[in-house]
Amino acid sequence: MTELSGNASVAGEGSDFRRALTSMVAVAAENAADVDHNSRFPQEAIEAARNGSLLGAAVPSEFGGLGLNIAELCHIVEQLGRVCSSTGMVMAMHYIQVLCLSRHGRSEYLQQVLRRCAKEQLLLASATTEVNIGGDSRSSSCAVRALPEGQIELKKTCPVISYGRFADAILVTARRNEDAVASDQVLVYLPADDYQLNKTFDWDALGMRGTCSEGFEFAGITEQAGVLDDLFEKISAETMLPAAHTLWASVWYGMAAKAGENARTVVQRAARKNPENPPPSALRLAELEVSLQSMAELVRSAIARYQAGWQSPEVLESLQFAISMNTLKVASADLVRKIVGDAMLIVGIAGFANRSPLSLARLYRDSIAPSVMVNNDRIYNHTSTLLLVSRGER
Ligand SMILES: Cc1cc2nc3c(=O)[nH]c(=O)nc-3n(C[C@H](O)[C@H](O)[C@H](O)COP(=O)(O)OP(=O)(O)OC[C@H]3O[C@@H](n4cnc5c(N)ncnc54)[C@H](O)[C@@H]3O)c2cc1C
Repeated sequence: MTELSGNASVAGEGSDFRRALTSMVAVAAENAADVDHNSRFPQEAIEAARNGSLLGAAVPSEFGGLGLNIAELCHIVEQLGRVCSSTGMVMAMHYIQVLCLSRHGRSEYLQQVLRRCAKEQLLLASATTEVNIGGDSRSSSCAVRALPEGQIELKKTCPVISYGRFADAILVTARRNEDAVASDQVLVYLPADDYQLNKTFDWDALGMRGTCSEGFEFAGITEQAGVLDDLFEKISAETMLPAAHTLWASVWYGMAAKAGENARTVVQRAARKNPENPPPSALRLAELEVSLQSMAELVRSAIARYQAGWQSPEVLESLQFAISMNTLKVASADLVRKIVGDAMLIVGIAGFANRSPLSLARLYRDSIAPSVMVNNDRIYNHTSTLLLVSRGER
């Protein structure tokens, strides 16, 4: 099955990176069923990432990380998506936060944080969603409150923070100060010693059970220097949104590709048994290939587009770039759900069963999450507003 970016230079055969990734993928695969069954954090896979320096993969090399580009990071999470969607999403969410820090944290304090991310292999989580605001990340109700002696206080009611209890730090969106309007936001880095999480919701969900996306009352006091240097409007347009959509879509493509592999296995087995009469499911497999190829091309071209515009704020802040990244999210979320569902029909009862080598049951449940994770309607709503002033450039 086609990989999205398997020829990335650092991913060459025999490299330390390749060995670390192979080892992490094997550990994630081994624990995937248990992680899902018990709705538990994929501790073993994240430990393997730590041991292989993969948690620092997005940290620029001058700060001690692997300095991988977006295509290479997408390659990592795609490989994980094939074996454990939850582990893939944890790594994707972590890389998004590291990229926000490395692209928008210029102060000495934040550069020191970045060095620690690589040296200590810190795991970063994200708290954008807020109660009564839902998935609109460009709006906050909570605000940064200035305290004496260069400190700030931040309290936020968070319906969902994935792996919040397991993270070494969380990046939180908030209004810039108590007088700021809802969209005048900053992104704040808080190390785990600087906040308390009081759990309000358990995570016992249909899918992506290993992300442990529990709800919390978040309360922190930290250094004013933890506020990232750029306003969140810029961070969101240039980094958080496009990085999220390319990395998430890569995990989802990995999931879809795995479902396609199972479907192909079943059809090829049936064809070998009766070479004179190809099974009717061969047509369905050909149909599935259309969706798989569309998804591969969609995700691959979006990654290339982001990579090409990486150094150009004018490209990243353009209307057509925002529209294309929004479209990537909704299209790939719809495609993964369709592909895994269609593959289920081809594989049949062996896919429907929970404990078969060709089971698609976990993938099927996981494939619903992409459309809910920042609801597709929220994204359509945003795109429709942009289209009102678009000149139709793509
Ligand atoms: C597996 C998983 C992991 C997650 N991890 C994190 C995390 O680590 N950190 C984090 O901050 N969040 C996280 N989230 C939350 C996620 O980002 C969602 O944005 C959030 O769950 C949305 O909540 P909601 O569905 O209740 O709200 P809404 O976004 O309000 O959606 C609810 C419904 O209202 C509709 N709706 C409401 N308002 C509008 C509007 N203006 N335009 C269009 N439709 C509208 C939607 O279409 C939808 O039908 C995670 C979600 C999932 C599924």
